[in-house]
Amino acid sequence: MTLTEMRTILSARGILLTKSLGQNFLHDANQLQKIVSLACIQTGEKVLEIGPGLGPLTRTLMDRGAKVLAIELDQRLVEYLNVTFAGNPNLQVVHSDAVTWIREENRNWSDWKLVANLPYSVASPILVDLALHVTPPKLMVTTLQLEVAKRVAARADDEDYGLLSVLVQAVFEATELIKIPPGCFFPEPEVDSGCIVLRRRSTAAVEPSLIPVFKKIAKQAFSQRRKMMFKLLRQQWPDEHLEEGFRTAGISRTARAETLTAQQLGILTTRLHELKTARSIP
Ligand code: SAM
Repeated sequence: MTLTEMRTILSARGILLTKSLGQNFLHDANQLQKIVSLACIQTGEKVLEIGPGLGPLTRTLMDRGAKVLAIELDQRLVEYLNVTFAGNPNLQVVHSDAVTWIREENRNWSDWKLVANLPYSVASPILVDLALHVTPPKLMVTTLQLEVAKRVAARADDEDYGLLSVLVQAVFEATELIKIPPGCFFPEPEVDSGCIVLRRRSTAAVEPSLIPVFKKIAKQAFSQRRKMMFKLLRQQWPDEHLEEGFRTAGISRTARAETLTAQQLGILTTRLHELKTARSIP
């Protein structure tokens, strides 16, 4: 879909784009092809797309053989997609808020891929919810604000490393990040965007049943970046368990959360949980 086609569709339907919904549509054919290539789509593969908009990415995905489940919040765009792709068996459009929908949908995502140009305001919660899902997708190829994509991919001790990095990296490994300039979108966003490739690890940092505990520990640990993690976690855990957990995970008592990998936090979570459960057995 060219920029001219995009403008024509919007004006014919009287659609004024909504900034708060992150409606910056990708019209650059090269970037669309690049994104879909990064997702290595096989014929018949199941793809979840959040925020299809006018469907340029949706169409490119289907051209490569994907079966797309697309979740769109804007009723005007849902109507457009339903008319444009009417009768296409490879597309199902759901009119919903993707954040709520993902939380309520009881689906096994393990053989799905997420390919999406995510709305900026809800990109982080969507990524985290899918990454820490009981059955997460095998691959996530998502376009985000470049600054957010860098935070997702950052390594321990990097300036951009934080809670978002740890939560996503507990289950996924960032393997590629390409920059997409503002001129590829309509309207042009004020900042650069980046498309990041996240591959599900063969072994996650924690087992699925411990994810809620992992999240709680990670949030507490990153609540004050400059403070020692041991002190922050004291609010939730007894000192003797923390000492044992830190020893098992090879974490120094004086360490700050920003120096730790998701794997170390995973080991700490597992050990703290074991100690807590052992204590409660009579
Ligand atoms: N995929 C299209 C493209 O690349 O041109 C549009 C991407 S645009 C950045 C984000 C899309 O997400 C918009 O269509 C917007 O209406 C939709 N959106 C915003 N918030 C949403 C939400 N909470 N749930 C589902 N879709 C949402």
